[in-house]
Amino acid sequence: MTKQLLMIPGPIEFDTKVLSAMSVPTVSHVAPSFINCFSNCISLMKTIFRAPKGQAFIVSGSGTLAMDMAGANLVENGDDVLVISTGYFGERFKTILDRYGANSTILQSEIGGVVSLEAIEKELQSKPYKLLTFTHVDTSTGVRVNPKPIAALCKKYDTLCILDGVCSVAAEEIAQDEWGIDVVVTASQKAIGVPPGLALLMVSPKAMLVWENRKSLVANYYSDFANWLPIMKAYEEKRPSYFGTPPVNLILALEVSLKQIQEEGMQKRFERHRFLAEAFVAAVESIGLELVCKDNKNAAFTLSAVRYPQGVQPVDFLGAVSSRNVIVAGGLHPAIKQEYFRVGHMGIISSSDLIAVLSAIEYSLSKNGYDFESGKALKTFQDILNQDN
Ligand SMILES: *Cc1c(COP(=O)(O)O)cnc(C)c1O
Repeated sequence: MTKQLLMIPGPIEFDTKVLSAMSVPTVSHVAPSFINCFSNCISLMKTIFRAPKGQAFIVSGSGTLAMDMAGANLVENGDDVLVISTGYFGERFKTILDRYGANSTILQSEIGGVVSLEAIEKELQSKPYKLLTFTHVDTSTGVRVNPKPIAALCKKYDTLCILDGVCSVAAEEIAQDEWGIDVVVTASQKAIGVPPGLALLMVSPKAMLVWENRKSLVANYYSDFANWLPIMKAYEEKRPSYFGTPPVNLILALEVSLKQIQEEGMQKRFERHRFLAEAFVAAVESIGLELVCKDNKNAAFTLSAVRYPQGVQPVDFLGAVSSRNVIVAGGLHPAIKQEYFRVGHMGIISSSDLIAVLSAIEYSLSKNGYDFESGKALKTFQDILNQDN
């Protein structure tokens, strides 16, 4: 069977060392070696999130569980919350917060755009909001939001700041403590580089205090920090403990991946993602394709959402790409689902992987009747690589 290159915005291609870390006999969740591994994961997370004072949570589940845990623990009935949305995942956060009784307001950007800081500040001035959520990279539009000024506004208006970093942590710059972000949520299968199954959260001391001072019980038993906090503390202090069985083998893989990320160096890693993303965007633009993202300075470094040219149909396009053993994703934003495709470029991927993707895209476009100069996207990409060397 031919190897397929998985270039969707999660799950991504995983390193063989990460994968082989999972292929071992499962040890007890209270085995000293596993306690040690869990403890290392917590301290590596603090380094990678740049949150030395943060409380880490590593829980079995997907990114949506991480969002759900933030909502369940920090929202009480009737709380005013503000959701800044740049697409599908912003709306999901609102749905989650509403489920826990929030009185939510949503500021929705136009598709491919961002919500202005002026609009956010105006809304924060209008009433005291307990918390604000926003999406670092919305995977439905490929739009990146700059967290720093939004976190500064939250500080100014004494509002908890919650960042959905599922499609950004470990690839786009985040300095959680320094920027004043109270909660960052993510998942294993995107830039963290571990197969799906882990929800990861980093919570500031201020947000933990808000949780401690709740008047009502957390309405979700599995998500309740009260159940997980003693477990995280025990692992950190290298003591055995139990609430719900952790996914032992996934956490062994997490340690390997977090170490690799730390070894690459965060700044170098952000730069690598930026370079590949910008070269990829230049390549697709050189053959007349356009991004969903309206302003390239907001285009994510973790994925690109690219509009089909006129006349190219999603099923035909994606089919021809996959016949070249490259898997890219279709649209996700409900309003424009049929109008664009998405290419993930995060984690261990290299320029050679993107050359394979561009080759498959060019092949598919030709096959589907799009008129362009064959080879130009590849050449554009290659020229950028050559300039760099
Ligand atoms: C993927 C993603 C999620 C959801 O994560 P799951 O692991 O699929 O539950 C949430 N937010 C963003 C920005 C994502 O990219």
